[in-house]
Amino acid sequence: MPPGAGPTEVEWAAAVAAVRDLPPDGRVQLICHVNPDGDALGSMLAFGLGLRHRGVRQLRATFPGPPEVPEPFRGLPGLDLLVPATEAYPDPDLVVCFDAASESRLGELVDRLETAGTALVLDHHASNTRFGGVNLVDPHAAATSVVVEELLARLGVPLDAGIAECLYVALSTDTGSFRFEATTPAVHAMAARLLATGIRPGDISRRIFDTRPFGAVRLFGEVLGRARLEPAAAGGHGLVWTYATLDDLTRHDQRPYVLEALIDSVRCTAEADVSCVVKQTGPDGWAVSMRSKGAVDVSRVAVALGGGGHRFAAGFTGHGTVEEVVGSIRAELGAALVTPGPA
Ligand code: AMP
Ligand code: MN
Ligand code: MN
Repeated sequence: MPPGAGPTEVEWAAAVAAVRDLPPDGRVQLICHVNPDGDALGSMLAFGLGLRHRGVRQLRATFPGPPEVPEPFRGLPGLDLLVPATEAYPDPDLVVCFDAASESRLGELVDRLETAGTALVLDHHASNTRFGGVNLVDPHAAATSVVVEELLARLGVPLDAGIAECLYVALSTDTGSFRFEATTPAVHAMAARLLATGIRPGDISRRIFDTRPFGAVRLFGEVLGRARLEPAAAGGHGLVWTYATLDDLTRHDQRPYVLEALIDSVRCTAEADVSCVVKQTGPDGWAVSMRSKGAVDVSRVAVALGGGGHRFAAGFTGHGTVEEVVGSIRAELGAALVTPGPA
């Protein structure tokens, strides 16, 4: 298969067969990546609703880590499929993984790749390590939900409003509300198919993107107020970064997921190509989000530091102090330059 190509017909056929050939009471475990975002949850729940439509009854969805669904996603159709990771089937007939570029994104559920009869991977990361028995990986797809829509169509599952809402949340999250480079004519055509089911984009977008507790608004003010701009970093293309600690969350009485939207305020900075938010997850652990406007391939930085992602959006798990984490990023920026610095 040429690098960067989507799934082959053989791979599509194998994925269809994995579902079609399930035993009558086959158990299916759906797993999306740790700290699930809209694409991870939306893709997983859309596929779950599709399997339910096909008559699959022993069906569970989950993700590693604490079983807390971020508030913006608590209205998603199909949430009744969700169980805590501790209640995932130990040895399902089929496991399906969503939006995870590598096994490490499955956390404590990684053993299901071994215990399941078949492991099917649905993803769109160029860095995907093809860790399933059957892999549907399309690096050109704007979201994993694009792959899910196609597989559901090949399984003969019609789009209903529930499936469409999940897919729409996934697609609009990963394209930044249809603003990012990956927003192709095919993406808008898919959005049109989803909207034709009668779902309400205004309501969905307000819930997903434009609603947060007042405490989070004040927390953002504080965290944005300590942002640092380094114009000379990244060969003169500039770096802007900030951080949020567990203490910040406690003082404002907020849950960690509210910080996911922070990067969108930081990456506005005109003077920096690369933006970064360092979010504390434990005494010595940090979840790092990076974005680029194109001069730097941030997935190279992330992979060098043990993470992954895409050219314009990537992340990794950092250790040490904030300064050490940011220092490790700074040190990798030069090697990740796509275009030379300004003269
Ligand atoms: P985020 O900044 O969390 O929105 O993530 C941006 C991109 O980086 C997503 O495509 C993620 O899949 C990827 N990513 C984030 N954190 C990690 C990590 N710790 N390991 C691998 N990939 C990650
Ligand atoms: Mn994701
Ligand atoms: Mn995705």
